[in-house]
Amino acid sequence: MQYFSTRGAGPVSLDDALRLGIASDGGLFLPEALPRFDVANFDSAETIPEVAEVLLRPFFDGSELAGDLDAILAETFSFPIPATALPVAGHDVSLLELYHGPTVAFKDVGAGFLAACLSRLEGNIENPLTILVATSGDTGGAVAAAFDERPGMRVVVLFPDGRVSERQAHQLCCWSDNVLSLKVKGSFDDCQALVKGAMADPDLNTAHRFSSANSINIGRLLPQSTYYADASLRHFRRTGKRPGFIIPTGNLGNAFACIMAREMGLPIGPVILATNANRTIADYFETLEWLPRASLQTLASAMDVGDPSNMERLRHLVGEADVLREQVGIVSVSDEQIETSIRQDFAEFGFATCPHTATATHTYRQLDAGLADGHDWILVATAHPAKFETIVEPLIGGPVPVPEELDALLSRPAHSVSIGPTLASLAKVLG
Ligand SMILES: *Cc1c(COP(=O)(O)O)cnc(C)c1O
Repeated sequence: MQYFSTRGAGPVSLDDALRLGIASDGGLFLPEALPRFDVANFDSAETIPEVAEVLLRPFFDGSELAGDLDAILAETFSFPIPATALPVAGHDVSLLELYHGPTVAFKDVGAGFLAACLSRLEGNIENPLTILVATSGDTGGAVAAAFDERPGMRVVVLFPDGRVSERQAHQLCCWSDNVLSLKVKGSFDDCQALVKGAMADPDLNTAHRFSSANSINIGRLLPQSTYYADASLRHFRRTGKRPGFIIPTGNLGNAFACIMAREMGLPIGPVILATNANRTIADYFETLEWLPRASLQTLASAMDVGDPSNMERLRHLVGEADVLREQVGIVSVSDEQIETSIRQDFAEFGFATCPHTATATHTYRQLDAGLADGHDWILVATAHPAKFETIVEPLIGGPVPVPEELDALLSRPAHSVSIGPTLASLAKVLG
């Protein structure tokens, strides 16, 4: 299978698309054509790795990694991704729990898969590849966890000092010797500028073999499609119906993977994007004009995106807003509605949801009767609430139990190095 940029460059192999992350013309990689499946193609696939093996096999056609696909999938899906029934009277509604990975957020799936692929393609003990990640929270931890202790790979995480929560900071700094955690005296934008500056510096690049693991790498999208395939197949086998999905959305990577699975023929009904107060996509669907803007800070901080990069993929795959809005729904959820939803989830379901997941549960509650009664629904839970306990605990009036995975991280020692927001300080600590 060959891959082309959304802006036309290519073709490149899967292996090069994984190595490069972004295409030479600034566009994002997509396969030349999506494979098509019937439900029957998955008849003998019971587990997520087995579903993934059927779904992803065509994407690896011609890749050096084709022979390792089973091992890559076994590493990626080393934790369960269950859909748990929710107590909603008279309706079949469940919660797809994407938060059982090492850093208890869905980004563990994409980061784990990318690490399994890149370490096979590029792992070099003599001259390690250096993965640079600027993070405002979840991404850096997932990438560090995925590359931790992988020979021939080094990770450098840059995060803004004092602007991530205590638990988030711990998760960014509790890794082995091949992960360097840098507290940058500056903002997230400063961290991003440092990563771009370092990658554009020829001397630094030769010395350290930089690569990035940001969310636009095709290697993060492909494995995300498999949990939508698996959940929809399970639902379809049980009920004969195509479930709808409601997906907390920021940069549009997770939701794009669901829409891609539907395009490939998986039994998926309506797809609704639940966004926070960042209205770029919602306004586009309404006015048909694409107007990216600066992001607003909200309680669902991992979705604070004003210029969602994967929209370029979605427009390429499906079409412009007039077509898109016929195929994909969208709801913008305010901070006040997120708070109300967290309280209501706790009262009705008996457990807390994180602020991102609460945008999906809110969106479900406000569906019109036609949609609510006409379909079964799967609401997507993108992170464990214990990661956002400072927001959630006051709302539910009690503690959120810390899951084992997070507890294990919080009990590891943390270490980090402080740097100023300049390329010279970064170059110095890189050695
Ligand atoms: C990254 C993230 C999101 C947003 O996902 P996108 O793929 O950027 O749309 C939602 N919830 C959590 C917890 C996240 O970490």
